[in-house]
Amino acid sequence: MIEVTFLGTAASIPSAERGLSSLLVRQGGERFLVDCGEGTQRQLIRSGIGFRRLDRVLLTHGHLDHLLGLGGLAGTINLWRTTDRLTIHAGAAALRLARTLLLDVTWPAGPPPLALEFVEVLSGPIYESEALRVTAFPVRHHAPDCFGFLFEERRHQPLIRARLEELGVPSGPERARLAGGEPVTLPDGRHVDPEDVLGPAKPGARLAVIGDTESVEDLVDHVRDADALVIESTFLDTDADKARARSHLTIGQAAWLARTAGIERLYLTHISSRYRLADIEAEAAAAFPRVSVARDFDRFQV
Ligand SMILES: [Zn+2]
Ligand SMILES: [Zn+2]
Repeated sequence: MIEVTFLGTAASIPSAERGLSSLLVRQGGERFLVDCGEGTQRQLIRSGIGFRRLDRVLLTHGHLDHLLGLGGLAGTINLWRTTDRLTIHAGAAALRLARTLLLDVTWPAGPPPLALEFVEVLSGPIYESEALRVTAFPVRHHAPDCFGFLFEERRHQPLIRARLEELGVPSGPERARLAGGEPVTLPDGRHVDPEDVLGPAKPGARLAVIGDTESVEDLVDHVRDADALVIESTFLDTDADKARARSHLTIGQAAWLARTAGIERLYLTHISSRYRLADIEAEAAAAFPRVSVARDFDRFQV
């Protein structure tokens, strides 16, 4: 299961209800902060998520409404020692800005005890663990080196609870070992093989996250058949000319991508305060049946 929490859903300028772009992706014990607009650390506190195990930030691009919160966030993580290392993944241009913000502005006298790692994102896999793979793909927007991210859980065989109970496998390390495909010997000497308690293999969840973008045709293959897509939709369709001029999407374009790519569930973010929320929600509902217009602190699971 992958869980997403929206921390900031405003377009370009914060409002009383919406912070600047940021969301947290969690899978098992792993956490990824995607974008870090100004004010993100307060949103993390308000959401109850806090800073523990927050050691990886992915930037979609280098516009300030997506990264200006990085200095303050890293400062707090360094002060509270919630992790020893903070890794920033971004395209070359955004990575240069992140480096300047952290090394020249936040810590001009020398690097902090917190180990900072700057990793340039190129198209392709950027993170792999036993349970998860994250892949980056190029996105067109009025900034260089923009990327979207696809989070994919690996295929897994879930434990069958009824079989575990039947065989008297206690909760704890034995179950974890069986889930990992290892046989175990129970305290009473009985031997249990993983095949005795594992169900049929299930495909893992797939989540696509796209920040600011000016086009959708080039994104279809990258997000095809994802269980959920998070994407900007800054303008209503009546302002398609403004959307084009400012290198952003309309709701209709985001919905087109969801339909064409076979997306199960669509989440719209980067919401402009120039419109009434009711108008945005009405246009979204008419454009795609399984859609939500995200609000700060909304949470969903894939
Ligand atoms: Zn933006
Ligand atoms: Zn932008």
